[in-house]
Amino acid sequence: MDEVKFFDEGALVAVLTTQPLDRLLDYKAPEGGCLTGAFVEVPLGPRKVLGLVWGPGRGDFDINRVRSVIRVLDAAPMRPEMREFLLRVADYTLTPMPAMLRLATRAPGLGGAPSMRKVYRRGAAEPDRLTPARKRVLAALADYGDLTFTLRELAEMAGVSPSVVKGLVKLGAVLEEDSPRDLPYPRLDPDYGAKVLNDDQAAAAALLRDKVAGGGYGTSLLKGVTGSGKTEVYLEAVAETLRRGRQALVLLPEIALSAEFLTRVQARFGAPAAEWHSGVTMTERRRCWRMVGEGGAQLVVGARSALFLPFRDLGLIVVDEEHDTSYKQEDGVVYHARDMAVLRASICAAQVVLASATPSLESWVNARAGKYEKLELTSRFGAARMPGMAAIDMRGEDLPSNRWISPTLAEAVRARLEKGEQALLFLNRRGYAPVTLCRACGHQIGCDQCDARMVEHRFLKRLVCHQCGDSRPIPETCPSCEARDRLAPVGPGVERLAEEVSELFPEARLAVLSSDLFASARALKEQIVKIAEGGADIIIGTQLVAKGHNFPRLTLVGVIDADLGLQGSDLRAAERSFQLMRQVSGRAGRTENPGVALLQTWQPEHPVIRAILAGDEEAFWQAEAREREAARVPPFGRLAGVILSSPDVQEVFDFGGELARRDAPLRAIGARVYGPAPAPIARIRGRHRARLLVKADKGAPLQGALRKWVAQIEVPRNLRLQIDIDPQSFY
Ligand code: ADP
Ligand code: ZN
Repeated sequence: MDEVKFFDEGALVAVLTTQPLDRLLDYKAPEGGCLTGAFVEVPLGPRKVLGLVWGPGRGDFDINRVRSVIRVLDAAPMRPEMREFLLRVADYTLTPMPAMLRLATRAPGLGGAPSMRKVYRRGAAEPDRLTPARKRVLAALADYGDLTFTLRELAEMAGVSPSVVKGLVKLGAVLEEDSPRDLPYPRLDPDYGAKVLNDDQAAAAALLRDKVAGGGYGTSLLKGVTGSGKTEVYLEAVAETLRRGRQALVLLPEIALSAEFLTRVQARFGAPAAEWHSGVTMTERRRCWRMVGEGGAQLVVGARSALFLPFRDLGLIVVDEEHDTSYKQEDGVVYHARDMAVLRASICAAQVVLASATPSLESWVNARAGKYEKLELTSRFGAARMPGMAAIDMRGEDLPSNRWISPTLAEAVRARLEKGEQALLFLNRRGYAPVTLCRACGHQIGCDQCDARMVEHRFLKRLVCHQCGDSRPIPETCPSCEARDRLAPVGPGVERLAEEVSELFPEARLAVLSSDLFASARALKEQIVKIAEGGADIIIGTQLVAKGHNFPRLTLVGVIDADLGLQGSDLRAAERSFQLMRQVSGRAGRTENPGVALLQTWQPEHPVIRAILAGDEEAFWQAEAREREAARVPPFGRLAGVILSSPDVQEVFDFGGELARRDAPLRAIGARVYGPAPAPIARIRGRHRARLLVKADKGAPLQGALRKWVAQIEVPRNLRLQIDIDPQSFY
């Protein structure tokens, strides 16, 4: 990275903008000069756009026509390590730099003066009547001396509703003021709510603390079954990072559902962390972005894009549930947050903790090779035990058609209901039925825009395309043969399963957890809390329930179709299925009551099912690693997917064929190209899709070769070419 320089007024500077241009633009430094890394506003044609001073100008443009930077924005300049990170990600993912800059500046109003906001501090008056709630507010303020807080922060810290604070304002005991600035977040106290750790946990925490204290780069894989205390352990690493005066970032896969986690953080450090995800208001986003850069935020809990926040001194990144597929960003800049977290940490001398009960094969292999330190928590904390696992062989069950709960499973559910415990039925399919079939002509209703079948959602009274989201009312006549009342649902979704449950257990209180049934993340959160408190007897859920919620009364997990994930040609089908089944099963028996997980399957002898039942994880990983190594696929080889899409199907295949023929740059590094083939979903939103797959050896310089390869042919205007390095899903 170029070193940071100061440019005097009028000096030529090269500016990276967020506009899709393939080069830096020269400008003159503004009045007062500017630094390398400064965020600036520059004129571009008739517009003003956001830019970043990248270095000295190139001077290859008519100096008389070079315009001036309009102004330097009031934000901390981007640090050299952040610029290096953006460059490296761009290089790895083949992303143009303007798109990287957009990703790194996703906060509104960066340039504008921060708007006014209401803040609260201790006033002189004493309230006439001191309720416990009011006492807590005043105590929270007393704890922090002269600091001010937003309404929400103060209410949260005191554990009261905002109206209590407002009441104190009326009495003059709390002052409400306008503050023109983005406020620093309340200080966290690393020693506030530390727990006494058990031996396993203490050993892992001590190791992580040492690594953090060492001040260099390193990655650890923290493995342990659900409930073993991984969170407690990595919060100790966060605490050590805070003690050293550095910043920490915790990435979570389902951030919208992280209320439970945020409460824990607050209990551990005495004040709330900064949040960064799509559910955060624009004002809070800007505050987070700025405070991270100025050092006014010590801990950020965020979604994957939080990796691109301008931390002043990032010392630790935790990637919780590191195997989760949602860490792969599939739109726009296509990157894997876990891998980019490791990259960022290696640049800024930070530690990475990858936490999971069922690590990805990639991380498992890296740990085996000694690249990652492996820390293992072997048992559940306290009295909780891993559930017993058993298969229900569906070949031996007497089940009428259009029924999915076997007598054996139904019996097990009944036993739980009698004891007042909860049962979870897991089916990873939203809606009522995956297929709607005409019994007269055999037609299956598909989406007009996509090569996908419409899924009946009875709750919404509509057919919905799960690819593009398009929906329409459920028709009465077949769209193909116009026969009346002959349309029939085929196969189960969670809504249909709910019908069956209501018939089987009319007395039971039933809750369905599926993302589409809730208007907002908040509504979903509330429902989860209710269920955890015992507000339901039977829970039906999609993969949403696999992720870190605690249902203390849950003692039975029934997997409706354990074979579902084993189908398909996806490289990671076995791995995913294994992870999901283990995770879902881990929901049972989190307290004293021992749990049991029952897997309905038509192929109990399948190696993946057998590995799940045996609980022999190491054997599973080893077998899976051997197979992938033999096939020289990731993590033992490299893949890149190329998706071509266009409204014109001929164009897609012509272009793809031409690319495949001109494969010399790929052959030069020993790589091979396969395809073009129709993508598994051959049409989405009216665009036809073809796929090429490039396969290379592990050490091959793939990115450079790909760049040369695609640069050979000009991409037609209507055609989109998207390169996906290390593709995770194949659709
Ligand atoms: P994981 O992250 O591995 O799923 P958690 O850290 O969430 O596990 O721990 C599971 C539960 O056990 C949580 O409620 C947690 O607070 C509790 N727990 C774990 N370790 C301890 C400890 N040392 N002291 C007190 N409670 C603990
Ligand atoms: Zn569609």
